[in-house]
Amino acid sequence: MLQRTLTILKPDTVSARRCGAVIDRLEREGFAILGVRTLHLTQTQAEAFYAVHRQRPFFASLVKFMTEGPIWVLALERENAVVHLRTVMGATNPANADPGTIRADFATSIERNAIHGSDSPENAALELAFFFPSYELV
Ligand code: ATP
Ligand code: MG
Repeated sequence: MLQRTLTILKPDTVSARRCGAVIDRLEREGFAILGVRTLHLTQTQAEAFYAVHRQRPFFASLVKFMTEGPIWVLALERENAVVHLRTVMGATNPANADPGTIRADFATSIERNAIHGSDSPENAALELAFFFPSYELV
């Protein structure tokens, strides 16, 4: 089933100038790019995006990281997009990420882990709407 998901190339990926390398992998994995935005999240935006984690001990540090510089936000489409993106991203902690995954190759810590991917179709819909007006995604 053709499905959409959302990815964020996090500030570590942008500052390391690895967006092209990560996007190349996503395209080779069969994802079509329906929309791209570059933006610098405000604290309020980052807190809202990661609101599910607000009680976690790492929340303040995560928000600081996600607001330290620009990010690239991409709307992606593919068969089984949500699960496939999570597979090619690899585990949250790069120490546990399978060889060849994006996080295994580009993440430097459990926090500075290069890329975000929606974790369910429901959250993909919410996250796509967070960043893209529906009329922008054709
Ligand atoms: P993402 O939601 O960014 O795709 P994920 O779903 O693999 O990542 P989550 O559990 O949703 O992981 O955590 C969100 C983000 O918070 C992680 O990607 C990472 O940047 C940060 N994070 C998660 N756990 C920790 C931790 N124990 N210490 C520091 N940062 C963490
Ligand atoms: Mg998550």
